[in-house]
Amino acid sequence: MYIVGNWKMHGTGESLAEIAAVAAARWPEHVSVAVCPPFTLLERAARTAADSRLQIGAQDMHVAPHGAHTGEVSAAMLLDAGATIVIIGHSERRADGGETDDSARAKATAALAVGLTAILCVGETGAERDRGDAHAVVAAQLAGSLPEARRGLMVAYEPVWAIGTGRIPTLADVAGMHAAIRAQVGAGVPVLYGGSVSAGNAAGLLSLGHVDGALVGGASLKAASFLAIVEAASGCVADAA
Ligand code: PEP
Repeated sequence: MYIVGNWKMHGTGESLAEIAAVAAARWPEHVSVAVCPPFTLLERAARTAADSRLQIGAQDMHVAPHGAHTGEVSAAMLLDAGATIVIIGHSERRADGGETDDSARAKATAALAVGLTAILCVGETGAERDRGDAHAVVAAQLAGSLPEARRGLMVAYEPVWAIGTGRIPTLADVAGMHAAIRAQVGAGVPVLYGGSVSAGNAAGLLSLGHVDGALVGGASLKAASFLAIVEAASGCVADAA
C-alpha cells in the first residue's frame, strides 16, 4: 500500500515541520509513505526524512540528463537532492506545462533508467466522463505514455474532475477503472487512486480491489490529515506489487 503526498506549489522552509512530523510517525511494513514537495524543498525534506521510512519525491522532471534547458531539473538532479520518486504526467502539468502522452512516456523512461520510482498519472476530465469516454480516454493515455520498463513504475488514476474538488467517483467506478488499468499494465505495477482523498474516504477507496494506494494533494499538506490517511491505509493490504 502506497500513500504519496503531492504538495504541488505549496510549502516553504517552515513547512518542513510537517515533513518532520510525518517522518516521526510509525506505520506497518506493508505501507510505504512519501511526500513530494516543490523542488526548492527537496534536499531539505530529504535531510529531514533521513533515518526514517518516509521517502521524498519530486513532482516533475526534464527528460534530458543535463543541457541548455533553463528552469528545468533532470532525473539525476532529483536523485542527487535525495528524491527517490517522481510524479510524471500530472493533469496540472498536462494543462499548465504542455505535457503530452509522448513526453510523459519519455520522462518515465528516463526516470526509471536512473532508478527513480515513476508515478505516471492518467485520468479523464469531467466532460470526457459525461460523454461516457472515461475508460477509452484512460486506456489511450496509458497506451501513449506507458514506458517499456515496468520495474519502479506506478500508475495513478486521477480523474481530473475529482482533483481538489471534494468529489470522488463512486467506489464501483473506481474499482472498475482500476481493474481495467490493471489489465492494461500487468500485475507488478501498483495502481494508486488520486483525487480528493481524505481521512473520511480513504479506507473505502483503499480497500477496493486493484487499488494499491493513494496520491494525495490537499490533505497531504498537514501531517495530521496526511497521517490519518496513512492510518486508514494501514488496515488495507495491497494486491499488486
Ligand atoms: C492531486 O492533484 O494529485 C490530488 C490528488 O489532489 P487532491 O487530493 O487535492 O484532490
